[in-house]
Amino acid sequence: MGRTNEPYLGDPAKTIEVLHRYGFAAQKKYGQNFLIDRHVLDKIIHAAGIGDQDFVIEIGPGIGTMTQYLAGRARQVCAVEIDRELIPILGETLGSYDNVDVINDDILKVDIRELVERYNQGRPAKIVANLPYYITTPIIMGLLENHAPVSAMTVMVQKEVAQRMQAGPGTRDYGALSLAVQYYARPYLAANVPPNCFLPRPKVGSAVICLTCHDNKPVTVKDESQMFCLIRASFNQRRKTLANGLKNASGLSFSREQIEQALTICGFPVSVRGETLSLTDFARLSDAFTDLRPS
Ligand code: SAM
Repeated sequence: MGRTNEPYLGDPAKTIEVLHRYGFAAQKKYGQNFLIDRHVLDKIIHAAGIGDQDFVIEIGPGIGTMTQYLAGRARQVCAVEIDRELIPILGETLGSYDNVDVINDDILKVDIRELVERYNQGRPAKIVANLPYYITTPIIMGLLENHAPVSAMTVMVQKEVAQRMQAGPGTRDYGALSLAVQYYARPYLAANVPPNCFLPRPKVGSAVICLTCHDNKPVTVKDESQMFCLIRASFNQRRKTLANGLKNASGLSFSREQIEQALTICGFPVSVRGETLSLTDFARLSDAFTDLRPS
């Protein structure tokens, strides 16, 4: 049974030994930075709150370091790895766990709903990952926007990205990513992780962020995609007033008069900047535009 095995790969010497034995060199193009710090691994598993009934999808298991920890806690783990050179290594490092399946595929192409049906009778999965940084945002936003059956994501990301995800109005890091993430989930920064916890060392700092998906969205809005168009337009031209940003935005076709009317209906000054508006404010603004449209 998977639960009785002791994870051993958190030990840097073991990781180096496995990589040498297989002649494996980390691939930059796949964002390969392997975790070599037991303390960080324990923190991630603890932050993810994995229990023995959980079905966990791990994105990018690498050589299986975190997978060993996950297999020791969860009922079932499915690890999706794009690099086929890693599959024989995973065969060895995870060979003694009977609750882990490895899928050799690109996570962006995997049907999460199908996995959840197959492994968890349709009940939501938990995602845990030390993400490849070159596609962090497409992975996270893809899962959120496609309403993938996922209850929480505990992910290692670049430190700046974690800060942007949890930033609030009026702060330097606040932007379209903050609003998009916070519409779907509650972010919580669980740990900062320095480069020396990885092999090879990344050039940037990292952080573990937990995103607990909302059962009910924090705001209701009549036209979700219009609200996100407004948000993107507002932060694409950050130094402009919101009114100017919206006027010049591709994909939106409001007249200056309509923009000023919608802002006034919401009680915002015409000179307001997008970075001061909350998610609730953007939802109200979007609804004001919807109501101005001729029916
Ligand atoms: N989980 C391992 C660890 O913590 O040591 C490795 C993490 S490493 C930062 C990212 C992993 O994601 C690599 O194994 C890489 O090959 C894999 N990966 C990169 N792009 C991927 C994709 N599109 N789909 C699935 N896995 C991917």
